[in-house]
Amino acid sequence: MFSKILIANRGEIALRVLRACRELGIKTVAVHSTADEDAMHVRLADEAVCIGPPAARDSYLNVAAILSAATITGAEAIHPGYGFLSENADFAETVEAHGLTFIGPTAEHIRMMGDKITAKTTMEALGVPLVPGSDGELKSLDEARTVAAQVGYPVLIKATAGGGGRGMKVAHDASEIEEAWSVARTEARTAFGNDAVYLEKYLDKPRHIELQILGDNYGNVVHFGERDCSLQRRHQKLLEEAGSPAITPDQRNAIGKTVTDALSKMGYRNAGTLEFLYQDGQFCFIEMNTRLQVEHPVTEMVCDVDLVREQIRLAAGEKLGYTQSDVTFSGHAIECRINAEDPDTFAPCPGTVAVYHAPGGLGVRIDSALYTGYKVPPYYDSMIAKVIVHAPTRAEAIARMHRALDEFVVEGIKTVIPLHRRILADPEFQKGDYTIHWLEQFTARPH
Ligand code: ADP
Repeated sequence: MFSKILIANRGEIALRVLRACRELGIKTVAVHSTADEDAMHVRLADEAVCIGPPAARDSYLNVAAILSAATITGAEAIHPGYGFLSENADFAETVEAHGLTFIGPTAEHIRMMGDKITAKTTMEALGVPLVPGSDGELKSLDEARTVAAQVGYPVLIKATAGGGGRGMKVAHDASEIEEAWSVARTEARTAFGNDAVYLEKYLDKPRHIELQILGDNYGNVVHFGERDCSLQRRHQKLLEEAGSPAITPDQRNAIGKTVTDALSKMGYRNAGTLEFLYQDGQFCFIEMNTRLQVEHPVTEMVCDVDLVREQIRLAAGEKLGYTQSDVTFSGHAIECRINAEDPDTFAPCPGTVAVYHAPGGLGVRIDSALYTGYKVPPYYDSMIAKVIVHAPTRAEAIARMHRALDEFVVEGIKTVIPLHRRILADPEFQKGDYTIHWLEQFTARPH
């Protein structure tokens, strides 16, 4: 086992990793920008190293500074969290080239899954069902027209290098294909420096359902069931649940087996998530995330597993030590992402937290780096806390989340807590009756 780990991240996820390290008796090194000198992850770590100015490209994305920090502190492994360098194959490779362990999959697998066309062709060959669409990259507008006619409109043109919902354009009928093709390519070129695009049938009422997996270095892979992340605004998730209100245990077992068989054949190691669109009883793979995800706590609550501890253990070369039949599911979990944003306009609201009081009680978990007097800096992601609840049934989890949000005091800055309250009170949400389009329609309604 490692004796010291560097955490290459900030905010709640840096704390999350730090907590797992502490419980394993591992020393922690925090890295931080000058804007984060007073951050909680810096205060709680055994050692802290400043790696640059506020802008992420000069600090949290500064590979040379992070590796230097690891070297001078004698850290043996690096946990990248999510975002920043977590899905950067070159970083993973550089870390390993310096004789350190990257807590995550191999650079090769990160690279494969970072290119969505390669990810889809790989998964298809391993027996994972896909959204119908083009066979790889579209070579021309003519090919786009031909494939669109075959799969049927509406269709989506997507960037192979895409992320964060960018480089994606819908064509509702043949008259829109030329524009979708050129807009998606331009956006992809500007945002990712790669204008390769592919085509998928645009599903009109899917749910976003993803499967959490863990693999060791010896070909053993298990899944921890699904998370329903359909509640999204501009392709950004806002509220997640485990399990999905739409999936039966039999469906979970079936897709789980498909996925674990595929990843075991691939030799995939450490944590990963396969994202699917689910419609009319069919799972269609869209992409794989080769890292820990923001919403991992809902899985931890229903499966009683510490996914970060597992990531560390597996990276140290330990075996999984359990099989699929040892993974059990109990109750229901919901996570609300609390962003420092105006709950109506979604404009970011950085500033000083005048008063902070976190909820507590049975089945309530808060993952946050906030404290009274903390200044939310304007440079980074606006998510400042995650409220996670666990209860025997979905209805009880909803009631518990209501109660927790009522107790939550964050004064001095605006947050999306009022929006979460409205969602939780909505009859359609309470019935579990929603698709990926539901939240945008909901937020557009007068209230
Ligand atoms: P990104 O990497 O940018 O997040 P994804 O491929 O994961 O891109 O898609 C993001 C979101 O876009 C999905 O969660 C879903 O809401 C929507 N989406 C993607 N592909 C399709 C599709 N074929 N049909 C309908 N919606 C889609």
